[in-house]
Amino acid sequence: MAAPMGRPESGSDRADGAPGAGPPRLSGARRVIAVASGKGGVGKSTVAVNLALGLAGRGLRVGLLDADVHGPNVPLMLGVRRRGEAADWGAIVPLATAGEISPGQRLPALDRYGLKTMSVGLLVGEDQPALVDNAPLVGLLVRGLLSLVDWGEPDVLLLDLPPGTGEPQATILRTVRLDGVVLVVTPQDLARLDTGRALAAFRAADVPIVGAVENMSFLLCPGCGDRIQVFHRGRVPRAVLGDDVPLLAEIPIDPALSEAADTGRPVLIADPDGPQAARFRDLAAAVAERLGIAREWGVDG
Ligand code: ADP
Repeated sequence: MAAPMGRPESGSDRADGAPGAGPPRLSGARRVIAVASGKGGVGKSTVAVNLALGLAGRGLRVGLLDADVHGPNVPLMLGVRRRGEAADWGAIVPLATAGEISPGQRLPALDRYGLKTMSVGLLVGEDQPALVDNAPLVGLLVRGLLSLVDWGEPDVLLLDLPPGTGEPQATILRTVRLDGVVLVVTPQDLARLDTGRALAAFRAADVPIVGAVENMSFLLCPGCGDRIQVFHRGRVPRAVLGDDVPLLAEIPIDPALSEAADTGRPVLIADPDGPQAARFRDLAAAVAERLGIAREWGVDG
């Protein structure tokens, strides 16, 4: 088990306590943690949803903000749908930029499986592709979702970030102070530049790395139970992570995970006693440990 990361100082903008520097801290949330990846399609949202449920299962109040403007899949994975038309975010954005939002103007977060959740996908029309390229709009939208949605003072607010190190992600890093990031990788990424670039981007933004989750790590042979390494691991497997980035979990390829995503019932809900649910619970325990949650907050360790 890797060492705890230490607790950021409260009331200051930065973990090192320097006032005024860096993006603002979100008031009301004890920890704001990003789930990120160097590229798309690696299972970042799958991990974000199940990590959120795993943390909630430990008695924590958990919010999950789907800020993946490339492909906001969290609503699908949690089985929540937008009712009627997209919200009029022409009205939401000016409220967000004004900074001061009265309680009466807050949007309720959606309650699902014990989580509070909201997604850019629920606010923006599904046929609105220009958002990704519009950095100011991404910033306004995410700032609006953070400050306008009533997250109910969560212990942990997880942010499902857009993949990669491009402008949408950089905009979000400038928008809110993150207390840590969980990086989702696949075995073949570890030999490529994506993971190193993503780590460098978070280090440059002064965001502590909670650890990595290797998704699609292996396949269990249904006949013999052997571990099959589907992806080539490269010559220096995992070296790109370095000594200071613990590998928090290895999640195998399992059709149950993809079925869970499609049916809106995450594996921790659909099959809580199964092996993948156990892996995500262990991941949540490891993340809680790294964040110092168990020790400091009196939650079960
Ligand atoms: P990302 O957020 O990185 O784009 P998603 O979490 O949306 O990735 O996952 C992409 C697709 O892969 C989804 O259909 C998801 O159900 C599937 N998937 C993710 N992880 C696994 C896994 N370990 N086993 C099987 N399917 C998976």
